[in-house]
Amino acid sequence: MTNTAHTPDLSNLWMPFTANRQFKEHPRLLAKAKGMYYTTVEGEQVLDGTAGLWCVNAGHGRSEIIEAISRQTAEMDYAPSFQLGHQDSFRAASAVAKMMPAGMDRIFFTNSGSESVDTSLKIALAYHRARGEGQRTRLIGRERGYHGVGFGGISVGGISPNRKTFSGALLPNIDHLPHTHDLSKNAHSRGQPAWGEHFADELERIIALHDASTIAAVIVEPLAGSTGVLVPPKGYLEKLRAITEKHGILLIFDEVITAFGRLGANTASEYFGVTPDLITLAKGISNASVPAGAVAVKRQIHDTILEAAANGIEFFHGYTYSAHPLATAAILATLEIYERDQLFQRAHGLAAKFEDAAHSLESARHVIDVRNLGLVAGIELAPRPDAPGARAAEVFKKCFDQGVMVRYTGDIIAISPPLIIEESEIQKIFGTLEEVLKTVE
Ligand code: PLP
Repeated sequence: MTNTAHTPDLSNLWMPFTANRQFKEHPRLLAKAKGMYYTTVEGEQVLDGTAGLWCVNAGHGRSEIIEAISRQTAEMDYAPSFQLGHQDSFRAASAVAKMMPAGMDRIFFTNSGSESVDTSLKIALAYHRARGEGQRTRLIGRERGYHGVGFGGISVGGISPNRKTFSGALLPNIDHLPHTHDLSKNAHSRGQPAWGEHFADELERIIALHDASTIAAVIVEPLAGSTGVLVPPKGYLEKLRAITEKHGILLIFDEVITAFGRLGANTASEYFGVTPDLITLAKGISNASVPAGAVAVKRQIHDTILEAAANGIEFFHGYTYSAHPLATAAILATLEIYERDQLFQRAHGLAAKFEDAAHSLESARHVIDVRNLGLVAGIELAPRPDAPGARAAEVFKKCFDQGVMVRYTGDIIAISPPLIIEESEIQKIFGTLEEVLKTVE
C-alpha cells in the first residue's frame, strides 16, 4: 500500500511503542480523518475500528470541536496554570464533574493518561499524609494492568516488557494483585465472566502481608484495555471496593479508556455501580483533538488535603499545560457533543449487536477466545509456537491493507470503534477479520 512518493524522510523520528525498523521498511502513513474513516497518504480509506487509540469516541473531525479550538487559539493561545486561571478551566472542570459519580466533583487537569495516573497516586499519598497517616505509602496495582508510562504508572502497572528495562528504578513499596483472566474458566464470555470474583480475595492476602496501615491505594482499570481486553468477573470490583473501604485504602479506577461512553455510560464506575475514590481520565475527554487528561477526586479527599495545608500552595504538583485553553475548549465542545447526540446511549444500544458480531468469530481460524463489553471486544489468537505476537501482527497489517484498522497486543486483537459506528460498519470490521484470519498461517 506504501507509495514512496508520499513518504518523507523517516529517519529522525523515534516512534513510540513501535517496531521502528520494520515500520520504516513498510510505513503506514495517515493523512486525513473524518467520521469513521482515516485516509492514507495514498488516498485509501481505512475504517477506524479502534477510535484511534481508544480515544476518538465522537468520531473524527467534529466541526464543533474544530471551531471551538480555532476560536480559542485566536482569542487566547495560552494562560499560565499556576496562580492564575481562565474561565474555561473552571467551566471544563464543572462539565467533567457533572459526568462523574456523585461526590467525585473535584477535578485536577493533566495532559495525558500517564500524567493522570501519576497525579492520582500522588493525591493518594498526599491524602493519607494530610490525615496523619503518612506511613501509608504502599501502592497496589495488578498484573497485566496498564497505567501509562510514567515511573508511577509502570511501577503499579503489570506489563512486563514495559517494566523490565527500568526494573532497577521502579517505585519502592509496590505489590500486585493477580489478573483475572483464565481461558480454561472464562473463555468466550459474553459480557462479564461468571467466574473469577475470588481473585479480589487476593487483596486480603496482600493486606495481611503488609498490614493495611502501610497501604495508600489500590489502582486497577475496571476493564483492562491495553493488555488485551480483560473484562472484570461479576462481583470482582464490588469486592475490591468493600475490602479497600474496610481497610481505609483508597481505590483508584484508571478510566483512561473506559470513561466517556466506551461501555455505554459516563464511566465504568457508573456502569458497574462501583464508586472508587479517584478516577483517572484522558483520551475521550477531548475526543483526542487536543491532548488532555484529568483526575476526578472525591470532594472529601480534596478537602482533607486543602484543610491540612498551611496557608499557601496545598498540593505541590501540576503541569505547565494543566487546563490549557485549547484543551478546555476541546473538552467543553466534546462533552456537549456526547450529551447532545446521546452518544453513550447510542453505544449502549449497539452493544448487543456488537457482541453478536464479535462472537461470530468464536470458531474462526486461530481464535481461542472472544470477549466483550460495551463497544470493546478482544479476540485472542493461538500464538505461533515459535513467534508469539507474530500472527496478530500479520492480522493487523492485512486488515489495514483491506481498509480496516484494528489493534493488537501480543496475540490479542482489540476492537473499540468510535461510538458513532453504524451496524454495517460493525459487520465490516468483524467480517474483514474473519476473512483475514483464513489467510494467515
Ligand atoms: N491508563 C490507561 C488505562 C490507558 O489505557 C492508557 C493508555 O492507553 C494510559 C493510562 C496512558 O495514557 P497516555 O498514553 O495518554 O499517557
